[in-house]
Amino acid sequence: MSKEIPYKIYLEESEMPKQWYNVRADMKNKPAPLLNPATFEPMTYDDLRPVFCDELIKQELDDTTPYIDIPDDIRNFYKMYRPSPLVRAYCLEEKLQTPAKIYYKFEGNNTSGSHKLNSAIAQAYYAKKQGLKGVTTETGAGQWGTALAMACAYLGLDCQVYMVKCSYEQKPFRREVMRTYGASVTPSPSMTTEVGRKILAEHPGTNGSLGCAISEAVEAATHQEGYRYVLGSVLNQVLLHQTVIGLETKTALDKYDIVPDIIIGCAGGGSNLGGLISPFMGEKLRGEKDYRFIAVEPASCPSFTRGKFAYDYCDTGMVCPLAKMYTLGSGFIPSANHAGGLRYHGMSSILSQLYHDGLMEAVSVEQTAVFEAAEKFARVEGILPAPESSHAIKVAIDEALKCKETGEEKTIVFGLTGTGYFDMYAYEKFNNGEMTDYIPTDEDLEKGFQGLPAVPER
Ligand SMILES: *Cc1c(COP(=O)(O)O)cnc(C)c1O
Repeated sequence: MSKEIPYKIYLEESEMPKQWYNVRADMKNKPAPLLNPATFEPMTYDDLRPVFCDELIKQELDDTTPYIDIPDDIRNFYKMYRPSPLVRAYCLEEKLQTPAKIYYKFEGNNTSGSHKLNSAIAQAYYAKKQGLKGVTTETGAGQWGTALAMACAYLGLDCQVYMVKCSYEQKPFRREVMRTYGASVTPSPSMTTEVGRKILAEHPGTNGSLGCAISEAVEAATHQEGYRYVLGSVLNQVLLHQTVIGLETKTALDKYDIVPDIIIGCAGGGSNLGGLISPFMGEKLRGEKDYRFIAVEPASCPSFTRGKFAYDYCDTGMVCPLAKMYTLGSGFIPSANHAGGLRYHGMSSILSQLYHDGLMEAVSVEQTAVFEAAEKFARVEGILPAPESSHAIKVAIDEALKCKETGEEKTIVFGLTGTGYFDMYAYEKFNNGEMTDYIPTDEDLEKGFQGLPAVPER
């Protein structure tokens, strides 16, 4: 007999994971290594030390250890806002009149308004433990910068954030949240770095991009004694930290003997999706269970669905190592009308390999349809979702409506990564009927692909 399932499945503190799960350990085809952009040789621990924190490099390069202990100090910080609830979307199911059972894991219950804090506290912790003075980073929409500022404030580390210029101007309150937590925030590209000055000289009046801001943040870290660079997505270490999402989800589902059929997440750089699906993907990779995994990305920045699986620069200034990933080219910038986040040109190497191996699906969706789904969700489930998260909502609704046609009672789980309170310009555009879609043409994309580096076959 099945137990009655509550609206929210909460876990006890004691049920929070004590270890992160490293899905690479179960992958037959490992993600390709980062390469040195000058020599095309794999980056070693020593190569990466000027840029990243020591312990984080070990995590980045570790393709074999399945479980990695979460230090107590990090778990204690997690306890301030975790375990996060797994919510049964009874009201959405009712609204859609679907036989599907829909669940979402809600990560928006902290001031950063997103899952980013899960990795921010881990990265700040290892920086502090190494005795560093501070960290530098980039932020696009601002959630990552906020999360890092919060973690650094807690640990007493300096935090320098390069914020993509258009967000800096459009989201002044995000900036003030970061400053409240003690971070310094610089609009990027800026005149404070060599690479920023170069980009400004080549593209005067540019609104900036994540790729530019990364280049500036890396330069800032390597030019200051006692500083390292940290990144909020894409990297293996970030996916590792984000597995708290998937591990908690699995524990909650197991409590009620629920087995999902489909797991859906939005994909910018891939960290929330990777974190959510990792434990389930591990079961699939070990041949224990089967699931459908769906990555959802914007049609205006379609890395998985229209990108190339190739080595590429992670940043515009080409100062970072090369990563093999689905990419639109490091020069790609989504069209100016794109308001929905998820605008990075590349994608996690782990997820790229899994997608390449046919273990995961990807779909792209247009932003007006995403905001329609966000509105539908907000009106029945109460939470005002982030535009990024709403990509997952859109596809969860689509899958639930397919079940309505076929009569199948599938169980759908999706990641609700955050809240959208700082995205009111985007919502305003949508509410005014002024939001438009732009799907890049093949020619637009070709320009980005032309910038891919010629890396010799290994
Ligand atoms: C950053 C962010 C994302 C996208 O990043 P991933 O690394 O792909 O998870 C999604 N949702 C929210 C709310 C975010 O802040």
